[in-house]
Amino acid sequence: MSENLNVLTSTQAIIHEALNKLGYDEAMYELLKEPLRMLQVRIPVRMDDGSTKVYTGFRAQHNDAVGPTKGGVRFHPGVYEDEVKALSMWMTLKCGIVDLPYGGGKGGVICDPREMSMGELERLSRGYVRAVSQIVGPTKDIPAPDVMTNAQIMAWMMDEYSLMDEFNSPNFITGKPLVLGGSQGRDRATAQGVTIVIEEAAKKRGINIRGARVVIQGFGNAGSFLAKFMHDLGAKVIGISDAYGALHDPNGLDIDYLLDRRDSFGTVTTLFENTISNKELLELDCDILVPAAIENQITADNAHEIKANIVVEAANGPTTAEATKILTERGILLVPDVLASAGGVTVSYFEWVQNNQGYYWTKEEVEERLIKKMVDAFDNVYTTATTRNIDMRLAAYMVGVRRTAEASRFRGWV
Ligand code: NAD
Repeated sequence: MSENLNVLTSTQAIIHEALNKLGYDEAMYELLKEPLRMLQVRIPVRMDDGSTKVYTGFRAQHNDAVGPTKGGVRFHPGVYEDEVKALSMWMTLKCGIVDLPYGGGKGGVICDPREMSMGELERLSRGYVRAVSQIVGPTKDIPAPDVMTNAQIMAWMMDEYSLMDEFNSPNFITGKPLVLGGSQGRDRATAQGVTIVIEEAAKKRGINIRGARVVIQGFGNAGSFLAKFMHDLGAKVIGISDAYGALHDPNGLDIDYLLDRRDSFGTVTTLFENTISNKELLELDCDILVPAAIENQITADNAHEIKANIVVEAANGPTTAEATKILTERGILLVPDVLASAGGVTVSYFEWVQNNQGYYWTKEEVEERLIKKMVDAFDNVYTTATTRNIDMRLAAYMVGVRRTAEASRFRGWV
């Protein structure tokens, strides 16, 4: 039988198992197995040549029992409905794990920003906000950046919402530029959170970060900042990759040079001749492997070939359920996405709090609070995994889903 690569059904299976272990009945699973709301929209965009192109977009709101939903908007040609649903469910879990007063949401548009002009991208971003405006807002559902969306796109979206709302509404969206109410440290928050989690996981495995061999798949927002943090901590980043290939140097890559040369979509390998494939990258001999690109990268096909001691998922959904089982059986410590990449939404929450207060924190204040959230979350999940003798992913799902389940019960929904 071939492996299940559908991110929605595999997420549902683990949520089911987590709810069972927590003692919830089938009615709770029925509530939480799908988003409460899933809006599909069509967005007409005037292209530079005068023609009109109509894009399909989505916004999923998994559960808002705890508070407003929160989650990024992805611009990518491969976006599909089940993926957006799964991503919104992972956001619920993340917010539960780092204890934020939110449920999970997520959005996406099927498009390829690499082939669009800035003007076309701006019109698409504004069109998306108009299309989903009935269900989003600072106390309903708060968007943020994700794959191939960035601070500029957040700025256009915030401006469009403010125009419709007739208020300056910085709390509508997070991941904004600093001058528009963005938070210190938001751009690097995901990578910083991953770094904190790597440090905690390394302690458990007796690995010294200084000198540790690190491989990172993906050189975008998450992967590139992470490479820099690992490099600055004295680790040897021996492999990085992007959508077009991978670079490997057993003596450590020149990260500052690569950061300088990467483009805004996280592409750098096209500048080099001696590249290896992403498949080869994942199978490199290393201490710490960080998938920081896309889904379904570690599967039953290559899980036996992974040589890392620790795998930390910066990307959403990079490891299949079957591969999780294989890695765990092989004694590899797998730190799951819903824990490892929760730094982004944590600082997004800090940004929203600052917007609501109209009072802004220093970089140090943001960092200190982020470290506390991530270390507490890691300890909580690690302890749950060890005391119940289950893998870190199931433990993270148990920690993450509990609060939404409880809130739904208190509200009388189940
Ligand atoms: P990004 O668009 O900035 O970068 C993506 C990187 O992955 C690029 O280097 C790209 O070339 C590479 N890539 C794309 N397709 C690939 C493929 N088939 N094989 C190998 N590499 C490929 O995206 P990002 O914001 O860095 O997000 C990366 C992952 O981290 C996603 O799964 C995202 O959901 C997750 N994540 C991001 C954040 C955030 O704040 N940026 C937060 C939480 C989770």
